[in-house]
Amino acid sequence: MTTIYDVAVLGAGVAGSAAAKLLASKGWNTVLLDRQRFPRHKVCGEFLSPESQETLARLGLLKAVQGLSPSLITRTSLYLENGGVIRLPLPGAALGISRYRLDASFHQEAEAAGARIREGVTVLSAELQDGHYSLTLRSEGQTEVLRARAVIAAWGGAGQASERPDGSRPSRSRKSDLTSRDRGSGRSAQVSGLVGVKMHYRMADPTPLSVQVNSAVELYFFQGGYTGINGVEDGKVNIAALLDRDDIPSKHRSVSAMLEEAARRHPSLRERIEALIPLPDTAAAVSPVRISMRPVAWSGIPLIGDAICRIPPLCGDGMSMALRSAELCSDYADRYLRGELSLGDWEREYKEAIMREFSRPLRWGRFAEFLLSSAFLSRALPALARLAPRAARGMIQATRLRVR
Ligand SMILES: Cc1cc2nc3c(=O)[nH]c(=O)nc-3n(C[C@H](O)[C@H](O)[C@H](O)COP(=O)(O)OP(=O)(O)OC[C@H]3O[C@@H](n4cnc5c(N)ncnc54)[C@H](O)[C@@H]3O)c2cc1C
Repeated sequence: MTTIYDVAVLGAGVAGSAAAKLLASKGWNTVLLDRQRFPRHKVCGEFLSPESQETLARLGLLKAVQGLSPSLITRTSLYLENGGVIRLPLPGAALGISRYRLDASFHQEAEAAGARIREGVTVLSAELQDGHYSLTLRSEGQTEVLRARAVIAAWGGAGQASERPDGSRPSRSRKSDLTSRDRGSGRSAQVSGLVGVKMHYRMADPTPLSVQVNSAVELYFFQGGYTGINGVEDGKVNIAALLDRDDIPSKHRSVSAMLEEAARRHPSLRERIEALIPLPDTAAAVSPVRISMRPVAWSGIPLIGDAICRIPPLCGDGMSMALRSAELCSDYADRYLRGELSLGDWEREYKEAIMREFSRPLRWGRFAEFLLSSAFLSRALPALARLAPRAARGMIQATRLRVR
């Protein structure tokens, strides 16, 4: 007999694994699907904001994260294009942890709670038929149909973008429902030629740079993009950058060449990178990166994480928003599966909750990105931050999800 799962979660990044863990621990027969195989390196600054930790605690995931020996980050330094620097304390300790370790550990937690995880499985379409969803999947060249009473899409914000070491585009396109999802997110996203890259490094000389990099997140702004640096586990350093693809000469299309190109545009960044030794096996790229204009929480099925919206990466709060949406949506899914809520009520209430919580940080995040990336406007910021440090901290805070 074919299994009918209570819930299928489509995408096993931070949002999907957190939702699967939560729903499985409530006793629902849960399957978590991802087209990739784990562990895998993923483009991300790997900075877990102080705000995300309360959500992690409520999700029962904080202990697992603390057990991965993350670096503790207490300060931020913003290196502007004109040479100005703004240094600010963070509102609490952030954690630096690689997505290679983090996502795999969330999978272990989801599995321990009873979820089934299937890797290397691409979801092609989801269709509601007679009160059940029929999902068409492709795995190892075979097509199959999986049935579930509820589905949650946690497939990230890449749309048809690639997530591969060389940043090149995939040749396959996704079918029907997933293609219409791309059109849906396109309406609310800033169409861009941005490419995201990341790579780990180790320190050539462990002190005093190691102390500085391990306890601060550094952001470097320059024409055509910005780069973030912070420590992760085992004394390693993660460097992630968002770059305008048109500004990158075609000979510089490997991740390390793109990061070197970024370093050429900011003297302080160049100095920092020269003191580090790259670990090329950890490279990843994603393109295009679309920054959202407004959150879209439902597209035929409920969306969580980056599938709802992408906040500018410099805010370092994307994972926090992904975890919070997983928490919210799982609660509605639980009530729907219990028969306490109709699908229509789930859609309406969840959409309202996401608009209420996500619109403000998204708006402020885009404003902060605009200010810091403008060579002209950013000139006055270091002096303003010295004169009104509370206002500067308030601005960073406004880009963050308010902890409930
Ligand atoms: C350059 C950059 C730097 C960033 N830095 C930070 C930071 O420092 N801190 C922070 O909090 N956030 C940061 N972010 C944002 C953060 O990475 C995202 O918010 C977060 O990864 C969202 O998690 P998610 O689970 O929604 O999506 P993802 O982590 O993208 O997971 C989606 C999963 O869905 C799978 N999938 C997609 N389509 C299908 C399909 N059809 N079938 C099956 N599986 C599918 C994918 O393989 C993937 O594993 C950064 C982003 C960028 C681009």
